[in-house]
Amino acid sequence: MNMNTFFEPFSPEKIFNAINIEYRWRLAKLEIFDVIDSTNQYLLDRAKSGSSGWVCLAEQQTAGRGRRGRAWFSARGTSIMFSLLWRFSKELPSVSGLSIAVGVIVTQALKNFGVQTGIQLKWPNDILFNGRKLAGILLERRGENIIIGLGLNVNLSPLAIDINYIDLAEVMNQPIVDRSYLTGLLLNELLKNLPRYEVEGLSIFMDEWSQYDFLLGKEVVMHTSKKIIHGKAQGINEHGELLVVDDTQSMQCFCYGDVSVRCS
Ligand code: ATP
Repeated sequence: MNMNTFFEPFSPEKIFNAINIEYRWRLAKLEIFDVIDSTNQYLLDRAKSGSSGWVCLAEQQTAGRGRRGRAWFSARGTSIMFSLLWRFSKELPSVSGLSIAVGVIVTQALKNFGVQTGIQLKWPNDILFNGRKLAGILLERRGENIIIGLGLNVNLSPLAIDINYIDLAEVMNQPIVDRSYLTGLLLNELLKNLPRYEVEGLSIFMDEWSQYDFLLGKEVVMHTSKKIIHGKAQGINEHGELLVVDDTQSMQCFCYGDVSVRCS
């Protein structure tokens, strides 16, 4: 179905009602735009003075982006695209660990929504379903303020579906998937777990990550700005960095922002 001509707009009430009463107070503000350049950019520009827990959601992004400025595709009303401003009590040394935690948190929300099997997490920021990309996470920071961006394909037009992409309608074998309820479930999990991440750290998310780790044991090609490294993925370390044994059998670790990973 081509959702560009008709779609059910986001309902703030539905979103709010899907958030557990216990965590609602952590949602400082929910702003919904019909069109915006980038939800991450909007909150980045307001990160210093804005309240932690501020959410910006959009029906359409004209300049949606992924890591390293790569474009994030979406047509109006077909995806869930939101950003959440979160302020940590101190600056995180890197966002590698948070990216792992957010991947696990999003996976939990998808499970709560009814997606029981097939989800995989590709380090550092992709959510796949049977090898096809369902969602991407983009973390950007300004000091102790982090913008957590999510782009999740929900009801893409079949024309927009790439062999490498998938949407939730296909995953769940439903003609249309309720974006508002799912957005509420996603926010619920984030509002519940981000304070846990701050107190307890990455360790409480590690087991689940390893269950979903798409790259584990795979031959990979790591593209950094300076070189290309071939090796085998060995999971992550306690900072959320990817471990790779390279051709010379030495172990290397990679941070969130430094590399693109391809399976060879
Ligand atoms: P990759 O995951 O391919 O290594 P990356 O991590 O550097 O790329 P991302 O942050 O994941 O970049 O997001 C940008 C990439 O995601 C784009 O280059 C494109 O390949 C892919 N992409 C863009 N829009 C979508 C979409 N709606 N669904 C799935 N994948 C998309």
